[in-house]
Amino acid sequence: MSDGGTHGAAGIFMGLASVAAIAVSTELTLDPLTASGVFLACWLGSLFPDVDTRLSTIRRLLDIAIPAATFVLIFVFLTGMAEVRLLFAVLALSLMYFSVQFLKHRKFTHTIIGLVLLGVPLLGWPFLYVGWLVGCASHLILDREFKLL
Ligand SMILES: [Zn+2]
Repeated sequence: MSDGGTHGAAGIFMGLASVAAIAVSTELTLDPLTASGVFLACWLGSLFPDVDTRLSTIRRLLDIAIPAATFVLIFVFLTGMAEVRLLFAVLALSLMYFSVQFLKHRKFTHTIIGLVLLGVPLLGWPFLYVGWLVGCASHLILDREFKLL
């Protein structure tokens, strides 16, 4: 079993590799915001499967970040400055975050289909979804978990 440091380091490496691969393969100039988003989605994807463990790095991070982000985004949305897809994504991720905490360790969040489904709120941003999937794949490989469901 790998700890958050190993998964996080793999997520950073894979995030940088994903940004480089997307930039090269699409022959488009990735704007800094999109590149940062891909990197962040990959890093979060590399840590997220362990959200079903109380003392994991991602659990402790999201325990603070999700309620704060939800509150800020609802406020921003009510003032008319946020996109609907952004609000949907944060609310869906928040709901999923709270739901998966009740699962047993290395079950749904350590399956290929589980991580594909948990990334659905990011489908509004295809590059971020790709980053998420790459990060999740690195986690499953390090944990040696290759279950489809
Ligand atoms: Zn794990």
